[in-house]
Amino acid sequence: MNCVFLFILFLFPFSAFSGAFLWDLTKTNDRIQRKWQRPHLRWQYNPDNASAGIQAIIQNALQAWEQQSTAQISDEFMGTTKEGPQNDTNLTVFFNINPITYGAPVNVVAYTLLNTRGDGFLKNAADGPIVNANILLNPTLTSQWQTTPSTDPTQLDLQQIITHEIGHAFGLAHSFLVDSIMYPAVPLPNTSAELKAVFRTPKRTLAQDDTAWIEMLYPVQNFDELTAQIAGRVTLGSQGFTGAHVIAVKTDEQDLAFTFLSQGGNPTLMTKGLQNVSTFSENNGNFQIKGLKPGTYRMIAQSGTSFLNFGLANVNAYLNQFGTPGIFPLEFWKNPDCAATSALSNSNFSDSLTASSTFTLTANQAYCGIDIVAHTGDTVCGNQPSLQTNCNDDGGCSLNPSAGMPNYVLILEISLFLLLILGLRKQRAN
Ligand SMILES: [Zn+2]
Repeated sequence: MNCVFLFILFLFPFSAFSGAFLWDLTKTNDRIQRKWQRPHLRWQYNPDNASAGIQAIIQNALQAWEQQSTAQISDEFMGTTKEGPQNDTNLTVFFNINPITYGAPVNVVAYTLLNTRGDGFLKNAADGPIVNANILLNPTLTSQWQTTPSTDPTQLDLQQIITHEIGHAFGLAHSFLVDSIMYPAVPLPNTSAELKAVFRTPKRTLAQDDTAWIEMLYPVQNFDELTAQIAGRVTLGSQGFTGAHVIAVKTDEQDLAFTFLSQGGNPTLMTKGLQNVSTFSENNGNFQIKGLKPGTYRMIAQSGTSFLNFGLANVNAYLNQFGTPGIFPLEFWKNPDCAATSALSNSNFSDSLTASSTFTLTANQAYCGIDIVAHTGDTVCGNQPSLQTNCNDDGGCSLNPSAGMPNYVLILEISLFLLLILGLRKQRAN
């Protein structure tokens, strides 16, 4: 895996919820959620090597986040700059700097550097909120940038890529939901047709997965009243499982589809659907998802450690560090869960889908205490979930106030387009 990660972390003792947030540890090993204190992004770009019309493309990418969510975010264009990455308070987009310069793998498509409030610039330690972001579009790919929407998922659509990187700039991590703008990969031309067919095109708009997470990060005051939420725990052999990919599948959406795909390992279930929202189970197996649209849902849990060839390393360094070793069997949630059942497979999928439990939520409702139990042959019995107005809001939407705001800076390399990486490896092998 061509991933470079930040720094050695150790287990943070209390239970909290992760998912598509960027989680990190402060210098004093307090867990911290990366976000701007005031998410009014002042942005600029360096025109060197930039594609024609790039200002409108960046503006469109920002507007996708602002107009397709209720998140309290805004932006302001500050002009162009000929400087390199600076320790300013702007978001700056570059087309003339190879991300390798800042530690990225050679084959990354784009790279987002985040700096937190600190006493230096581009250092690997940080306690404060995000104060500066720089997005580097890999200049070795300049000839491949596309500026018009394409129905070919292998095209490098600049607006799609910049929308993705802006998600990181706001403080979001990757998602394994393939329709999410925060999905970390695009297929290569030599990727199988079966896998290519799973990607939506053009991909310039947010999925509900993106919308929910940006709204969780910068919520309007009545966010909880407007949306629904779920919470529960994933266990394997009675132990909490950290790093399971947990999906709230909205059953009453039109574009819902499931595909089993293998990239040389165990088949991975790809879940399509623009209204689904996913997270990753946190310490002790706990999970929470907010920002769900009212409707009827099913739950799926699968291993995050080997999702296609991505794994938790491509989601969030924090989860990669603390994820439970081993593979979580692919499961639909059933309640009550009192019988040993084989793990979900391609052959039993339809029957398992029929047998799985659904629940219906309206706005301002929370379904709490969902026990997702990996079937290892044990006879188990999950708790009865309860319908509430919230699930003891441990997740929080603000920075850890006890961390203080001393002086550190962080580089976060986030974007790794793995299928491209595999392709470049292949080229080298040739
Ligand atoms: Zn990324």
